[in-house]
Parts: sequence; C-alpha cells; structure tokens
Amino acid sequence: MSVLLRDVELDGQVTHIYIEDNRITEIGKAREADVVVEGKGKIALPGLVNLHTHSPMVLLRGFGDDLALQQWLESRIWPQEAKLTPDDIYWGAKLACLEMIKTGTTTFLDMYFHMDQVARAAKEMGLRAFLAEGIIDLGVPSRADAQFKAADEANRKIEALRSPRIRPVLGPHTLYTVSEASLRRCREIADKKGYLLHTHLSETKREVDDSIAQHGLRPAAYLDKLGFLAKDVIVAHGCWLDPTEIDILARTGTKVAHCPTSNMKLAAGQAMPYAAMKESGVVMGLGTDGAASNNNLDLFEAMKTAAILQKFAHRDPTVLPASEAFQLATLGGAQALGIDAGLIQPERLAGLVLVDPRRPEPTPRHHHPRHWGDAAPRHRRGTLVCGGPGGTKGRPGEGEAGVLGQAGPGPRRLVTREA
Ligand SMILES: [Zn+2]
Repeated sequence: MSVLLRDVELDGQVTHIYIEDNRITEIGKAREADVVVEGKGKIALPGLVNLHTHSPMVLLRGFGDDLALQQWLESRIWPQEAKLTPDDIYWGAKLACLEMIKTGTTTFLDMYFHMDQVARAAKEMGLRAFLAEGIIDLGVPSRADAQFKAADEANRKIEALRSPRIRPVLGPHTLYTVSEASLRRCREIADKKGYLLHTHLSETKREVDDSIAQHGLRPAAYLDKLGFLAKDVIVAHGCWLDPTEIDILARTGTKVAHCPTSNMKLAAGQAMPYAAMKESGVVMGLGTDGAASNNNLDLFEAMKTAAILQKFAHRDPTVLPASEAFQLATLGGAQALGIDAGLIQPERLAGLVLVDPRRPEPTPRHHHPRHWGDAAPRHRRGTLVCGGPGGTKGRPGEGEAGVLGQAGPGPRRLVTREA
C-alpha cells in the first residue's frame, strides 16, 4: 500500500511525501501511489504520541467531575468500571480513537482491561497502539494469578492480530495496588518476552508518604530496589519525584509520561519537576491520561497545558517553550516507546497529521508550526495518515457516525445498568 501526500507544506516548503507500507520512503518527488491525498494549503506535522491514556474511559467522560481523587474513584469510577463489558470497551476505544484521529494523535500507549478489544478498535481505526492490560492484585496472591492470566490472554490475542502497529505491553497499575512479588514477576515476564512495562508513579503525595511508611523508600527508589526500573519502563505522572529519584530514573533509562491536564484536574498538588528531569537527561513524553481525568484526549491541548503549568510551577516563563512541548508530544513519545517515528524524514515510521492553517487561531504565522505547542489549539483539524499494512488511512473519521451512534448512548445505559 502506498500513499502520496501531494503539494503539502513541510518545513516551509511545498513538497510531496511518499509513504510505502508503514514508512516514509521519499520526500520531494511526486510518484504514482495507491492513494493520493491532496495537501494543498495544508501543513504536514509528525503525528502526535499520547504516552499515557486509558482510552475506553471516554465512556466515563465528565461522569464524576469535581470530586477528590479517592471519592471520585470509589464512588464514581470503580463501580461503573465493574459493569463494563468487552463490547463497551470496544466501542469506548473506537470513540477514543476517533477523538485522537481528529486531534492529531497517531500513536498511543494505553492501560485498561479487555485490551484485546482495544486492539481490535485501534486496528480498525488505523492507529498505532501499545496496549497494557492493567494488573491490580491488591496484595492477594489468588487475585494476582487471575490478573496475570488475564494479561497473558489479552497479550496473546493482541499478538494473534499480527499487526505491526499494535503491540502488547505489561501494565502493573501502581506500586500501591500491585504486590512486590507481582512487580518482580512483571519484570521477569518483560525480560523474557521483550514487552515494555507501563505503570503510574509518584502521582500524589499520599503515594510517596505511604511508600516511605511501608517500604522505607520513596516510590522510585522502591521500584529500583526491586530491579523493576530499566530503559523499557514508561511511568506516568512523576509529580512528586525528588532529586534522588530523578537520578534513579536517569541512571536506569526509565521514561516518563507527563500528564499535566490530569494532574491539574485531580489536584495532584505539585507539577512534575520538568526542568530538573530535562537537566538529568530523562526521556519524557506527553499523555492525556484517561478522558475521565482530563475530559478529552487532545494532545495539542496537553502541549499548551504542559507549557503553562511548568512556567507557572517554576515561576519562570523560559521553562518548557512551545517548541519543546511539541517535541515532547512527538519525538519524545516516540523515543520513549522505542519507535523511529516523531519526525517526518525518509525511513521513519509513517505517522503524520495534516493541518489547515487557514483559520483564525494560527494567524498571523510569526512562528514555525512547531511552535504551535502553545497556540490556541483549534486549528489542527485535518487529514491524518498513519501508515501500516492494511491500516493506511487517507481520511479522518471513517465510519464516524456509526461510532458516535454506538458509543454515545451506551455510557448513559452503563451508568444506569445494574451490576
Ligand atoms: Zn493513568
């Protein structure tokens, strides 16, 4: 399958981008292709990488806003999640993919359950996905066995799809919902199977205080003691990391997904120490977190939020410039996942978004589009191209009405359905 993006603006020049299967193979020459996408008047940008989300949580978008984290989880989220069926997850993931396509995301790292359903949805919608079946054992050995069995089954089903765009990941939820034995077991499986590991780390002060009380160590130091942290680990949040923990992440090569909107919405109380982490050379990307703790999956919005949150938190407007926020959402995320995407260059994995600058918000264009990380984010609607065998898309929102029809009324039924 080949795609030609014709007459598109790239780095200030009008050119052509040729994609064969899942790679950009040539820039500059107009060639015959199976699909030709008209890029006239549009700007090509690398597709965005959402480095932390729980895609089916779009079903619970706006359900239980403005509550304290524990109350939100216990009274609103967990009771509803207990009722979710595989079919709900499938349609939730379809809706999430549709939203990501429309806001420029081509790749996402996801943690939830029934992830084989998310895999099906992502494959059909043409996105690149790294999928972790969430493991929560609450320290109960029998529960741990059931969770590892479910993760193994989900990963086998994901691998059976044989899509190079969809990869299984191992997802122990947090160090306070997963036992030491299970965290060690995750590390062993990851070493054996070559899976990435994804977990939440240092989101709240309570997590840090509890870790010190229980293990005598701060969260990152505890995970390091277990031998869990390494360059194949991506942790989400990192709001309460201290300098010793930043050193641990840098030394082990652990990657971090900054989720500024979720942290602010759930009042994490402290911003991820971005400047110190950058100084230490920690690889970072951007995530939205689940829609229920953000209310959308819009990475352009996350870029702006990250930039202004970090400036505010550091009391320094030079911290996290817009171009750096854009880099986090593209190359940073790609590097964290170990894929050679995030830049539009020959031989790179295809993942592009075409945006139409003929809108009020990006006018006038003082800056290169890479600086749009802090511009008002409503101008990115456009065509998304995420290459891959059987998954090259020329248009956004294929089957949009069907997805909205299925995933719209479902959640209303869900919240009234008996468990
Ligand atoms: Zn999360």
